[in-house]
Amino acid sequence: MDQRRSVSDLFNPLRPESNRNPPLYPSLIPKTLISLPKRGQNPSGAQKPPAMETTVSYQRFPKVRIREMKDEYCKFELRETDASMANALRRVMIAEVPTVAIDLVEIEVNSSVLNDEFIAHRLGLIPLTSDNAMRMRFSRDCDSCDGDGQCEFCSVEFHLNVCCDSDQTLDVTSADLRSAEASVIPVDLAVKALAMESSSTSYEAAEQRGIIIVKLRRGQELRLRAIARKGIGKDHAKWSPAATVTFMYEPDIHINEDLMETLSLDEKRAWIESSPTKVFDLDPNTGQVVVVDPEAYTYDDEVIKKAEAMGKPGLVEINAKEDSFIFTVESTGAIKASQLVLNAIDVLRQKLDAVRLQDAEENDFSELKAHLG
Ligand SMILES: [Zn+2]
Repeated sequence: MDQRRSVSDLFNPLRPESNRNPPLYPSLIPKTLISLPKRGQNPSGAQKPPAMETTVSYQRFPKVRIREMKDEYCKFELRETDASMANALRRVMIAEVPTVAIDLVEIEVNSSVLNDEFIAHRLGLIPLTSDNAMRMRFSRDCDSCDGDGQCEFCSVEFHLNVCCDSDQTLDVTSADLRSAEASVIPVDLAVKALAMESSSTSYEAAEQRGIIIVKLRRGQELRLRAIARKGIGKDHAKWSPAATVTFMYEPDIHINEDLMETLSLDEKRAWIESSPTKVFDLDPNTGQVVVVDPEAYTYDDEVIKKAEAMGKPGLVEINAKEDSFIFTVESTGAIKASQLVLNAIDVLRQKLDAVRLQDAEENDFSELKAHLG
């Protein structure tokens, strides 16, 4: 057996488990993290695709079903995987999917009431459209500008020049930022442009002014140059494309019908009412208690406590399905929620590739190799 391959296979999540090492704790076996399209040759070239047909495979093919999809919001089910996968996906969406945000500010004139640092911070927090962020370079990795972060591959320049010359207080907003790159603009302006195109009236007048940066009185001025760079939420929250990413375990609810029938109609009603959320209801025709919305259950245990208080323990059994998750993703608008999920999968895949590559290049496994024979 090729020793090099055996070592790298150990860390290859695509590796089918052979019968040579019968698993003691199936739940602890490293399983495939996500079903990805088959990759070509591993970048290291050190391993071949695993032989699928001869051995038992623990490789899983998680299934995704989209329930709801809007530009800034999406809800989907992730099934046939485990919590490690769901959580990895959640964390990557929050902290490792790149966006573009203002990172460097050169103040030329600032006679406003806010100090330079305060304004720079506020500018950083304005979400910018980041559809190209995955293709951009991190300024620290950019060889065109030596990490200076001021070239076309890794940065976008903004200018702002506002002076107040009336007695009316002047709001300086994201709408005053002039971008050198048409594809990178404050998100609220992009939304506004879109709303005006479709002549939608839902866009509130208050929102049309843009995100307020500072307010100027007569004679005050703000003039600056800002550089937006690619970054990730791990480095600073301003780069996080996610407003909210949550997942819940899908509840598995079983009503003990025989026990339930021993309850009177009033008792059934009282039991249904004990749930703070509308999970159960009474079927008006049959008088049976039915589950109307299992996902409304918040794992509060109230119905279980109620059943015990009524002297009917075991009336209902509720378990969290360990392989089914319901995700809710809200984007800041920097990228679409659906794109956020796809980019997260891409980032996760790159990270896995890096682990495999590192493993293939690692030569410190001589002991392990000897042990494996
Ligand atoms: Zn550069």
